[in-house]
Amino acid sequence: MSSIPKISDDEYECFTCGRIFTTRVFEITREWDRVHYCTILPEVEVEEAYGLECYCSQACLVARRANVMANESVPIRPAGLEPIETCARCAGPVDMSEFHLAYVESETMMNGFVGITLDCEYLAVVCNRCLPRTLGCEEVVSTPEALALIVAST
Ligand SMILES: [Zn+2]
Ligand SMILES: [Zn+2]
Repeated sequence: MSSIPKISDDEYECFTCGRIFTTRVFEITREWDRVHYCTILPEVEVEEAYGLECYCSQACLVARRANVMANESVPIRPAGLEPIETCARCAGPVDMSEFHLAYVESETMMNGFVGITLDCEYLAVVCNRCLPRTLGCEEVVSTPEALALIVAST
């Protein structure tokens, strides 16, 4: 699932500079994640991922990053993979082993339909009190109005 218009199966258009590019994709994604800590290295389970924007280079991603997150009404607060991380919205704890909304920036090498993730970092994680998992990640619209609706319905 993605809001990113594809030119064809293996061509993308950069949201910053408009360049058409192919193999190496820089992307900002909104997804429902949870982390399993039973393995030696924490393992991230991604339930749904929704591509917000894609770029031809790291520089083009950085140029748009603040705008993208402002549109989501989620401040940038880089997170790691500790069992408890900090919510970008309320600064409260996020239990990483439970599904939570995460904003991820990644660099992927596309080879046909198979993408190999080269780099992946959390721009922000959001706790269940700020955004409960009542919606698919495609439906999450983090405007104050939408949030008020979510809060009112829970
Ligand atoms: Zn670009
Ligand atoms: Zn929160």
